[in-house]
Amino acid sequence: MRYGEADRILHLYTPARGRVGAIAKGVRRARSRFGGRLEPFFRIQAELHEGRGELLTVTGAQTIDPHARLRTDARALDAAARACDAVGRMFETGEPHPGVFNLLCRQLALLDAQAAPDGGSGAAGRGGSLSFRLKLLLAAGLAPQLGACANCGEPEHLVGFSGAAGGVVCAACEAGSFALGEEAHGFMADALGKSLTEAPVAGEQALGQVERAVAATLEHHAHVRLMPAFAAA
Ligand SMILES: [Zn+2]
Repeated sequence: MRYGEADRILHLYTPARGRVGAIAKGVRRARSRFGGRLEPFFRIQAELHEGRGELLTVTGAQTIDPHARLRTDARALDAAARACDAVGRMFETGEPHPGVFNLLCRQLALLDAQAAPDGGSGAAGRGGSLSFRLKLLLAAGLAPQLGACANCGEPEHLVGFSGAAGGVVCAACEAGSFALGEEAHGFMADALGKSLTEAPVAGEQALGQVERAVAATLEHHAHVRLMPAFAAA
């Protein structure tokens, strides 16, 4: 955010202090000592001074990875913004979650590596974005139960998903749930079990069900609402 005449307030996600707000003084001046290093989606090594106020002050910054390719691909850039927004909303306190930090670093690196002018698939696609969100759920301790009915334990005839129950539900327990097909079920299990680079693929209908399942889980258990995982072209 622009602040004052030449300053900027930054939202940083850190391995040791979770989400922090910091002010970078003079960063918008042409000859700022930060020299364009405090831009969105940069991975940086920052020196921060803690005063009495709520905001830390940035006193130094070195670039670890500017993710420069990402900026050439509108889809990748959009996916990066959605990834950062999801982390910021789901992990908005100063409580450290190094696993979340590492996950965000991997997602940004992946978006950067796959960036291309005709992008929009892979990590920057809806499936990639949802795989990332499922991994955030896992890191938050909110991974949906997928192996058996979350209500009664029935291992078969799983036909729906219930945010309140915290996972898939069987035909007998489907009241209050919505339909979740086999493809969506498989996508969720794969996304949770595999690395981001091996993100599964699924059709649009299945991805719609996955997105609804992620949203229902977050609303019921964290009272968090995210923006859509993907902007339709
Ligand atoms: Zn059941």
